[in-house]
Amino acid sequence: MNIHEYQAKEILKSFGVAVPNGQLAWTADQAVGAAKELGGSIWVVKAQIHAGGRGKVGGVRICKSLGDVNKAAGALLGSVLVTKQTGAGGKEVGKVYIEEGLDIAREFYLSLLVDREQACISFVASPAGGMDIEEVAATQPEKIQTFPIRDIQAYDTSKMAMFLGLDGGAVAQFDSLVRKLYQMFVAQDAAMLELNPLVLTNSGDLVALDAKFVVDDNALYRQEGISAMRDLSEEDPREIEAAKFGLNYIQLDGNIACMVNGAGLAMATMDMIHMKGSEPANFLDVGGGVTIPAVTEAFKLLFSDQHVKAVLVNIFGGIVRCDIIAQGLLEAIKTHPMNVPVVMRLVGTNEEVGQALVKGAGLNVYWADDLDEAASIAVKVIA
Ligand code: GDP
Ligand code: MG
Repeated sequence: MNIHEYQAKEILKSFGVAVPNGQLAWTADQAVGAAKELGGSIWVVKAQIHAGGRGKVGGVRICKSLGDVNKAAGALLGSVLVTKQTGAGGKEVGKVYIEEGLDIAREFYLSLLVDREQACISFVASPAGGMDIEEVAATQPEKIQTFPIRDIQAYDTSKMAMFLGLDGGAVAQFDSLVRKLYQMFVAQDAAMLELNPLVLTNSGDLVALDAKFVVDDNALYRQEGISAMRDLSEEDPREIEAAKFGLNYIQLDGNIACMVNGAGLAMATMDMIHMKGSEPANFLDVGGGVTIPAVTEAFKLLFSDQHVKAVLVNIFGGIVRCDIIAQGLLEAIKTHPMNVPVVMRLVGTNEEVGQALVKGAGLNVYWADDLDEAASIAVKVIA
């Protein structure tokens, strides 16, 4: 699960990490009030959306007067920001974060992630942090280095500090920062924590200027504080709806919707669609103990998606019964007409019953015996 920058900074602060003072605002008036309370003469107005890349498209505005704060907040609130990370549809800005402006000397990149290969938490650092980090990664990969950490030693942190080009008092500050970040990462069951940029101010302080935090969904049950930070308005409504029925559904960009039982088979199905020259519109694993209402909901989701040009059902029934899938389809079309071709590979437990139900309803369904054939048909019918 993702949280907002301002929320990530709240957590960072609670672990003793330096962040700029800031306040959240839902209106331009509140933004001006926040700036007044924060004091100073420079403020930064930052759109709060679950996506980075805001700086490049005007989602982060530096303001030198209260009038500027008013204008910046007014322009951002209610607007749709399209960044590299939002997808083409963009994200609507519902709130802005007003921060005191900092006097920046240098910008670094610093992140922590669960490193499965090394079986530890790794830090990724770069002395060339900031808005162009993706370009740095592509053109100057030597400027980004990974530091696997097991039991933090001064040796580890000084190695990183040297790579970042820190010296003087900043080295000790960095050592303390790394330890706090590590502690936070573990205590909060993070999957990823990214500070880009981490800045060194002209007065010599290391401050987390931006923060992205992803918590491991499987740990949400024991992370009540973070669970409460969930912002459903930032999440895909289809994914929220699907989750209510216990479906594992993820929206994607292609045109061929898929309904599959089992995550591995779903991945294979998506790969097969790709290999045949098209792209999947979603990942959908209905799971093992799926019920008729859940299958019905799944078909409704697929049929109501404007991007979907065909639906590929790939059920290799073991625990899943083919007749349940068929009944779900028949239920769904009562309210959501089948306006696109459906390709069915419906084999395994109760396949005769399931296939007979669909055939008996006289639906426009293409039948396939295996995945290869099903994917070929699906790609052909949308061509
Ligand atoms: P992102 O583009 O969504 O990652 O947003 P960031 O929070 O990283 O902000 C983008 C850029 O805005 C940073 O890399 C900084 O260069 C600049 N910026 C943000 N806050 C301040 C600030 O307080 N002072 C100054 N001078 N620049 C800032
Ligand atoms: Mg950033």
